[in-house]
Amino acid sequence: MTQPSKIYLSSPHMSGAEEKYVQETFTSNWIAPLGPNVDGFEKDLCDFTGAKYAAALISGTAAIHLALIMLDVKPGDVVLCQSLTFSASANPIAYQGATPVFVDSEPETWNMCPEYLEKSIKACLNGELEVNGNKINPQKPKAIIPVHLYGMPAKMDEITAVANKHDIPIVEDAAESLGSTYKGRQTGTFGKMSVLSFNGNKIITTSGGGALLSDDEHLIKKARFLATQARDPAPHYQHSHIGYNYRMSNILAAIGRGQMEVLDKRVEKRRENNQRYREMFMDVEGVSFLNEPRGCFSNYWLTTIQVDPAKTGGVTCESIRLALEEKNIESRPLWKPMHMQPVFANYPYCGGDVSKELFEKGLCLPSGSNLDDQDFERIEKVICKLFG
Ligand SMILES: *Cc1c(COP(=O)(O)O)cnc(C)c1O
Repeated sequence: MTQPSKIYLSSPHMSGAEEKYVQETFTSNWIAPLGPNVDGFEKDLCDFTGAKYAAALISGTAAIHLALIMLDVKPGDVVLCQSLTFSASANPIAYQGATPVFVDSEPETWNMCPEYLEKSIKACLNGELEVNGNKINPQKPKAIIPVHLYGMPAKMDEITAVANKHDIPIVEDAAESLGSTYKGRQTGTFGKMSVLSFNGNKIITTSGGGALLSDDEHLIKKARFLATQARDPAPHYQHSHIGYNYRMSNILAAIGRGQMEVLDKRVEKRRENNQRYREMFMDVEGVSFLNEPRGCFSNYWLTTIQVDPAKTGGVTCESIRLALEEKNIESRPLWKPMHMQPVFANYPYCGGDVSKELFEKGLCLPSGSNLDDQDFERIEKVICKLFG
């Protein structure tokens, strides 16, 4: 028998509307440079999120990098970052030669714990942190990077209160949470600067891309300037800043505009997927879900479960992953916390074992908005067999 087609964790889901916008770029030969679709896509993002200004960029990573550059993060500085996240949240700290300090999660949303955040700031101010046995000079962290992991909004009221108390700007990593809301407000509007991603596996995609959002026009103008090689206004090429080639192309922005037309539908479908998994596991002892706390609305970009082998009769998240893989179905462990990553192992960590335990017991299930009934039947078959 031939292997059934692969079910992906989260694959691109085009609406058809993208082609209309892409065709326009060909008709007008506006393949490059920046053009009307970039402007249009930025406006779509502002209209959707309520952010005042947006800069479309080549990636979410580039957006975080520019945010840190504009906050003047440089060697010797400290930036606080949620530990349980994708490495792209933290890598730009290293690009700037600064020191990341990783903060544990709280169990309710799996995102940055406000108490450990406060502790990490105090430890930093008091010069208690070390890298490779060397004390870091007492200092105020330059930025805080909380993440809305898998679409679940972080405790932004509490995190913002701590940040404001110490006057430290938030760079909000909303790469996974476009369409999620916290107390009625879209994620991506809580940071001094906020970051979106349109990478291939995100809730909408431009094949690759990202955006920086802010209510501060000056910051977004500066991001656009830095992202296009920092050219001074002069007919010759003159530069007084180091520039970057980080701007989104007009073609990719065309795809983004088509995707924005269906974003609400994509959120709805991902939430339906989540509901479907809850029903699938309803009678299974030892498998639990990440639930929305009051005031949180998740786009459920990925549906995640926690598996407790003490209660499942020995079934682990890894045995579920392997059983799915055998049937050509992709699932994935949670992000491995940054403080457990070899590349960041020497940097300070403030927290307990929340993110570590979530990682050890967690699994991301196939969650694409293009999953159909047949796909779910295949998944359910594997799960039924495992749990008898
Ligand atoms: C995807 C992602 C990013 C990076 O976005 P890219 O567009 O892939 O560079 C950053 N942070 C988190 C949490 C992400 O999931």
